[in-house]
Amino acid sequence: MLISTALLDELIAHAREEYDAECCGLLAYGDGDGAGDGAGERRRAVRVRRASNVFASRKRFEIDGRELLAAINEFEQAGWEMGAIYHSHTHTAPYPSQTDINFAANWPGLEWVIVGLADDKPEVRCYLIEQGEVREVPLEVG
Ligand SMILES: [Zn+2]
Repeated sequence: MLISTALLDELIAHAREEYDAECCGLLAYGDGDGAGDGAGERRRAVRVRRASNVFASRKRFEIDGRELLAAINEFEQAGWEMGAIYHSHTHTAPYPSQTDINFAANWPGLEWVIVGLADDKPEVRCYLIEQGEVREVPLEVG
């Protein structure tokens, strides 16, 4: 994923605001500068859409179903695709938990962005989780 500093800051700000619970939301991917070829490889985040964690928990999250549908509609109308699900880990490393891995089975092809707040300096990482296997993918800021 390729993300601008402004959008990355938005992710981190959301995670910090909801420090009592895991925050979650969706990222739309679009055709950044319309440069054409190769866009499939490096997908640019174009929109951060916050969502509610139905569990309001520090340990797990699930995106509110209606908000999810609204986001998908909004992205479609704008010509974007649903690219990633993001959430925060307030007290643990930004690595997918077993719960995350199980949940990811419902969302093949989506990237997983985790904002880790365990250290003073937030750490944001991006993964692909396929068939129970976690693979970190580059997160480029620019
Ligand atoms: Zn998690």
